[in-house]
Amino acid sequence: MNWDDFSDWGAKISQWAADYHKGIRDLPVRAQTKPGDIAALLSSTPPETADAMDTIMADFERIVMPGITHWQHPRFFAYFPSNAAPPSMLADMLTTTVAAQCMLWQTSPAATEMEGVMVDWLRQALGLPDGTSGCIQDSASSATLSAVLTMRERATGWRGNREGLSAMGRLRIYCSEEVHSSIDRACWVAGIGQENLVKIPTQGPHHAMDTAALTAAVTSDIDAGHTPAGIIAITGGTSIGACDDLSAVIEVAKTHDLYAHLDAAWAGSAMICPEFRDPFWHGAGDFDSIVFNPHKWLGAQFDCSVQFLRDPSQQLNTLKIEPEYLKTSGQAVTNYSEWTIPLGRRFRALKLWFLMRAYGLEGLRDRIRNHVAWAHALCDILRAQDHIEIVTEPMLSLFSFRVPGDDAAQQRLVDALNNDGRIYLTQGMYQGRKMIRFSVGQFDCTRDDVMMAADVITEIWKAQS
Ligand SMILES: *Cc1c(COP(=O)(O)O)cnc(C)c1O
Repeated sequence: MNWDDFSDWGAKISQWAADYHKGIRDLPVRAQTKPGDIAALLSSTPPETADAMDTIMADFERIVMPGITHWQHPRFFAYFPSNAAPPSMLADMLTTTVAAQCMLWQTSPAATEMEGVMVDWLRQALGLPDGTSGCIQDSASSATLSAVLTMRERATGWRGNREGLSAMGRLRIYCSEEVHSSIDRACWVAGIGQENLVKIPTQGPHHAMDTAALTAAVTSDIDAGHTPAGIIAITGGTSIGACDDLSAVIEVAKTHDLYAHLDAAWAGSAMICPEFRDPFWHGAGDFDSIVFNPHKWLGAQFDCSVQFLRDPSQQLNTLKIEPEYLKTSGQAVTNYSEWTIPLGRRFRALKLWFLMRAYGLEGLRDRIRNHVAWAHALCDILRAQDHIEIVTEPMLSLFSFRVPGDDAAQQRLVDALNNDGRIYLTQGMYQGRKMIRFSVGQFDCTRDDVMMAADVITEIWKAQS
């Protein structure tokens, strides 16, 4: 392909992209294909000769598109959103076009310097203290793993990387029962082990970690000769939106000199609205590490996860490695690859710059406020219907409900709704019972999109019963 062909196809694909998004409401939200359908349409051997771009693009529409679940569909109410506001998509196209590998300052100074400024814009937007710095990672899972490795190194006197863990005894990390599976996995791969991730029961209306039980667990571990290493708190758990009492968690961390990491992967975006910080964000500024995903609710094209760090030298002591070929001569500069596990880095700050400039924080706040208000309104409409039981009340824009019957009945309704295609929902568990999660947050969704869900849920439920 030469650059003239690239230009023609670039224009065609931009047009295709705009048409796709304009017509997206007519598509079923979740892909309607069965396992193996797409693979069966792909040639099982690689081509020996070139195909024409027309043919490749036609096959993309014919083979690939039916197997896409439309995350940018305004009636996507499953999981949490993975938004892609148009300006952030354009920025990501530019990132792809320039195709710079931004591992070091000198491998693209603009990427490094903009990353520092974007993290600071977001620090201000989220009301975190002056002096907090941070970096951009691919996902919350990576940021949490970085934090857990830092807990490990700090608790072993920075000896784990050098000596391995065989002589380090039991390192202990504490969190609530409501944390995301990425916390478990970080503890697996960091060599902490599932058995040393201590899950503390939750209590109260926000399903917060019981900090008296947390203190008791830490002291009994110390008595047993184990080494407490860190605490992972949560603001906005994945299942029901659980929120820890951050100030209370920080008290325990300070008392026992533990590194504290906060997972706000989803709910962090809502903290650009000052009214949602009370009480969920009180104490956040005292955490050593905080992760939130602008690629979830804020509107930045996937992937884009921000990790704030109160004192980055702790994570640098853990992850920095500097062979001769990566040294930068003569200048004191930031090399963000020393802050994270992968060496190679995309220019992710650009999509944050485009996003925040194109909407302004007020434009982004408007959307999040609407989503929260519409989720509450829908919850009240559902609550008023005889066949619906609200299981967990809205936390920001997430709530859960059940229909009459056992767990299998909940799953049958979820499956029937998703086969219908007008809306997309997923199931969860709460206190041992299956429930249906409803999460509002797609960037373009309207009040009508959300309210329509009430009619669709009732219609499909009636057709089933
Ligand atoms: C989505 C989510 C994660 C995982 O995020 P990735 O960026 O996909 O790794 C972790 N924690 C919470 C609370 C989440 O909502």
